[in-house]
Amino acid sequence: MLFRQIRAEGDRNFAYLIGDEATREAAIVDASYAPERVLAEAQGLGLRTRYVISTHSHPDHVAGNDYILERTGGKGETGAVEVMHESAPRACRQRVKDNEELELGALRLHFLHTPGHIPDHVCVLAAAKLLTGDLLFVGKIGGTGPSFPGSDPRQQWESLQRLLRLDPATEVWPGHDYGVTPSSTIGREAAGNPFLLCKTFEEFLHLKANWAEYKKAHGIA
Ligand SMILES: [Zn+2]
Repeated sequence: MLFRQIRAEGDRNFAYLIGDEATREAAIVDASYAPERVLAEAQGLGLRTRYVISTHSHPDHVAGNDYILERTGGKGETGAVEVMHESAPRACRQRVKDNEELELGALRLHFLHTPGHIPDHVCVLAAAKLLTGDLLFVGKIGGTGPSFPGSDPRQQWESLQRLLRLDPATEVWPGHDYGVTPSSTIGREAAGNPFLLCKTFEEFLHLKANWAEYKKAHGIA
């Protein structure tokens, strides 16, 4: 599997490029504000873009999709296929459900529906790499509350608990570079991410409500 994490401007957004070495087919995830950079990387590796995936419908995660679709055969039958969760409020060619898989050459892209930050959020598992979008960051988690319409802390908690049931060696590749390192693992986050250390939903809610103070007390940027 070919895999690249690409800085995509915005609010330290990360885009991802996943490629199958044999068929040279690629999926681009969350191209964000640097679609030209992501496409150049794909072309440099001799990859043909088959899927344009967004982890969720927030503007910074779908911003680069049209640019890529227009340059990879247009939005018709011959072009790359835009993929989002079935509940996404955006016209796209392929809508996926929880636990659905798409083939990319010999690779399988497994979609986990993980609402909480927004109802249409998905994480994408490719081999041992999990693209966590705005559900889980390194040492942090995505926002909920009035600034995020449709967000739900209870669903976010349940989605995070679901990630904790994955193999601890699963790699975490987030949608933003908000942590001390650009990537992590489920095991490392389970052992060190304050939100994943919460034992109950109540404790989790308390930490969310007091996150600014917690960060200050623990020297977290
Ligand atoms: Zn978001």
